[in-house]
Amino acid sequence: MKSVLRKFRKWILFCMVWGCFPLLLSGCGQSKAARFDSVDIAMGTVVVQQIYARQPLMQRPAGDGGGDIADRALARIRQLEQETLSRRIPGSELALLNAGAGGAPAPLSAKMEAILSDCMEVSEASGGAFDITIGKVVALWDIDAWAGSQMPADAQQLVNAQQPAYQLPDADALAEALASAGYGKLAVENRSVSIPEAMSLDLGAVGKGIALDELLGMLEEEQAAGAVISVGGSVLTYGEKPDKSPWRVGILNPADRAGNLGVLSLVGQWCVSTSGDYERYVEVDGIRYHHIIDPGTGYPAKSGLRSVTILAKDGFLSDALSTACFVLGREKGMELAGRFAVEALFVDEDGTIVMTEGMRAYFSPPDET
Ligand code: AMP
Ligand code: MG
Repeated sequence: MKSVLRKFRKWILFCMVWGCFPLLLSGCGQSKAARFDSVDIAMGTVVVQQIYARQPLMQRPAGDGGGDIADRALARIRQLEQETLSRRIPGSELALLNAGAGGAPAPLSAKMEAILSDCMEVSEASGGAFDITIGKVVALWDIDAWAGSQMPADAQQLVNAQQPAYQLPDADALAEALASAGYGKLAVENRSVSIPEAMSLDLGAVGKGIALDELLGMLEEEQAAGAVISVGGSVLTYGEKPDKSPWRVGILNPADRAGNLGVLSLVGQWCVSTSGDYERYVEVDGIRYHHIIDPGTGYPAKSGLRSVTILAKDGFLSDALSTACFVLGREKGMELAGRFAVEALFVDEDGTIVMTEGMRAYFSPPDET
């Protein structure tokens, strides 16, 4: 995946910088707060930042944590990935936990303990639709190798078409991997976790949301005036723009990623996460296999949805619930969103948009923006 991103890096950056990236729509304001823009790659996805920071906090000399506030934000989420969240980077806390599966209970950092406990809560509330213990299933599908929607659509198709070697996972292997999964078998207590043998954890469904929470902490520490930052399909808004107009976050049209279904107008701190079948997928014999797995079957969820967008104050919750609601489908997803008091917007396979009452206050169709 990294090599693919590298290959298309120039193209991706070009398209984004020149406005083909519809997610961040906030305008340029004139103000005393300096504006820092950055487009880069971290956590296997594209990170787009627009930060307004006050003097003199915005710039530090090289060597002192380095660069401007956007550079530091990027460094922070790369560190989060390398030290804590990545399943694939040897030496990250998650990789070490997985490597020790079947052994003695493993000690947890405070951060990982909080992440795992929060994940368990969402698993229970969603009846297992969200389940980080399906790491073996995710690995069998080889999701990390699939092209992501952060590429221009034709590049994504090209990369997928160049994967003739891709083999669907063997059904028996999937069944076996699924049998070793199950959040109920994971014991998180006394700052330690016991992972049964053959189980593997995957935090792909919450990594970007956790990154938003980390960025939020940093913006607060550095007393930034305002920011809109997208990490893949998850967006953080914070503070205000110099012209005081709302942040505008586009919701991609799953049927045509070149356009938005609508825009959320947000004031202050919010997290917006979208899970969609177009984000990461492969096509085999004309059938699309996407990256959101139903832990009940081990196969991509077929819940009648193309995407779910969650609006919450918290990055973790917005990311976890967008995945959970996608698996659950519209009706049960609505219920789950209500339990966590977040706003949700569902796009059905036929393009119908259904949203919570509260979401209406923020949403406007593209022609009204
Ligand atoms: P997202 O795009 O946030 O919906 O997350 C999808 C990613 O989370 C996948 O690439 C997998 O790594 C992982 N994943 C897929 N299905 C699930 C699930 N039902 N519960 C937890 N994690 C999942
Ligand atoms: Mg998610």
